Amino acid sequence: MISKHISMREGTYSVTATRLGLENKPTEEHLNNMKLLAVKVFEPLREWVGGPIRINSFYRGPELNKAIGGSNKSQHCHGQAVDIDDVYGHKTNAEMFNYIKDNLEFDQMIWEFGDSKNPDWVHVSYVNPGENRNRCLVAFRKDGRTQYANYAAWYNSIFSFCCVSVHNKTSCN
Ligand SMILES: [Zn+2]
Repeated sequence: MISKHISMREGTYSVTATRLGLENKPTEEHLNNMKLLAVKVFEPLREWVGGPIRINSFYRGPELNKAIGGSNKSQHCHGQAVDIDDVYGHKTNAEMFNYIKDNLEFDQMIWEFGDSKNPDWVHVSYVNPGENRNRCLVAFRKDGRTQYANYAAWYNSIFSFCCVSVHNKTSCN
């Protein structure tokens, strides 16, 4: 087990790795990173959520990362990032994003695509107390390419647009 609620299979599973017969086995250092992220972010979140959280992707070894065309700077390659999804329906991705943002320490978190109400999934990373940036981004597609924006600026731009658009109506929420 990587932690109380994350099995080794969940932490290393990948459809692509299975299809290509890749082992996707973390080194001891990467496994320690995964355990730290699990203890500092996943397990406290899991306790608040009160039920299972789907892990879409956690560790990506060099072979797997190459096979999926991932960035070689991806924190998944060091076991320092996990992608979580709300498919089990206990809390939404947006609720989990906000819980982590407001209650936990992390390095970088990404509101991955979706819309302004809910991202398609949440990417969150953890490095160590001295290096964690507590940085929130939003990922979106523009002209077919993935782009990133500062989450707070993006959120505020939506909120101010909302207030402008309902300026003559009774409420803004
Ligand atoms: Zn990710």
